[in-house]
Amino acid sequence: MIERRLLSFLLYDWLDAGALTRRARYAEHSRETFDAALEAAAQLAAREFAPHNRAADLNEPRLIDERVHLIPEIKRALDAFIAGGFMAAAADAEFGGMQLPALIEKACFAQFDAANVATAAYAMLTIGNANLLLAHATRAQIDAFARPQLAGRYFGTMCLSEPQAGSSLSDIRTRAVSDGDSPFGPRYRVFGTKMWISGGEHELAADIVHLVLAKVPGSDGTLPPGVKGISLFIVPRVLVQPDGTLGERNDVVLAGLNHKMGYRGTVNTLLNFGERRFKPEGRAGAIGYRVGAEGQGLALMFHMMNEARIGVGLGATMLG
Ligand SMILES: Cc1cc2nc3c(=O)[nH]c(=O)nc-3n(C[C@H](O)[C@H](O)[C@H](O)COP(=O)(O)OP(=O)(O)OC[C@H]3O[C@@H](n4cnc5c(N)ncnc54)[C@H](O)[C@@H]3O)c2cc1C
Repeated sequence: MIERRLLSFLLYDWLDAGALTRRARYAEHSRETFDAALEAAAQLAAREFAPHNRAADLNEPRLIDERVHLIPEIKRALDAFIAGGFMAAAADAEFGGMQLPALIEKACFAQFDAANVATAAYAMLTIGNANLLLAHATRAQIDAFARPQLAGRYFGTMCLSEPQAGSSLSDIRTRAVSDGDSPFGPRYRVFGTKMWISGGEHELAADIVHLVLAKVPGSDGTLPPGVKGISLFIVPRVLVQPDGTLGERNDVVLAGLNHKMGYRGTVNTLLNFGERRFKPEGRAGAIGYRVGAEGQGLALMFHMMNEARIGVGLGATMLG
């Protein structure tokens, strides 16, 4: 765990966190409210996250009858995290958030990382996914997909990598074929395979919001070359209806689990989109909604990738 005196020194003496309360956005906050959040995070991390750190490492996620089995302590810890308001710690009050500065939110999160980086990773992905949508999605997309993530009802992922494309994202082959319009923006049918997807399948939340990089084929059916041909899509595991209720299962299928050397409590998956196992609205292809303009996908995804980099760096520092 992080020593409190050290954290206070870093936040208040070195980084002058108190000065943030002079900004209009944090006017409701004070050093007392910052300390209360830090203390609540420390207690929750010690009580719900740290005790199963070793157990999660020894009992990696298992795939039985097409369902992912995690040790139950992971869901208990994440439910407590959500109930404590930490999924929306930095979010606007309008989204049920505490409107904490990123500095204090990250200091809170560091304590969950220090206690159990693998369980904390589900929350890190969900918060990063919601933040990308808050920055770049339409109001309807935010209400349908970001708001429930900040409330902890849905969890999120980032789907970039493919079996043949890791660092070289210009080589992705996942395709998104136009499928008309929808209340959540331009609609597409997504076909392809995504590899190494953290948090890609589980029963920790009612839905999983996948943010998927894919290419829209040209009129000749070929995929545009390079990273400028990449677009970003919201592909929910279960379709969301215009009134916000959950509808039929989307065609996102778990093909297998990856086994890792560390972070074993975070399930890591191989996902097939548009496998034809499910036929949403009677037709093949996973239904996805484009975020932003065509060809802007990688730039938009960097919003989440950068947050994930900070999160992974924070986690690594806490382990180190
Ligand atoms: C634990 C874990 C969780 C992950 N979670 C996710 C996730 O949630 N979502 C997701 O989309 N992906 C995820 N990934 C995938 C991750 O983003 C990729 O592993 C990463 O992009 C690297 O791709 P790769 O593994 O195919 O390696 P490669 O791209 O094949 O790279 C292999 C090596 O070659 C080097 N290299 C690559 N290109 C060049 C070049 N042009 N010049 C010089 N050197 C080069 C790299 O630095 C590396 O050392 C996860 C991976 C891990 C290990």
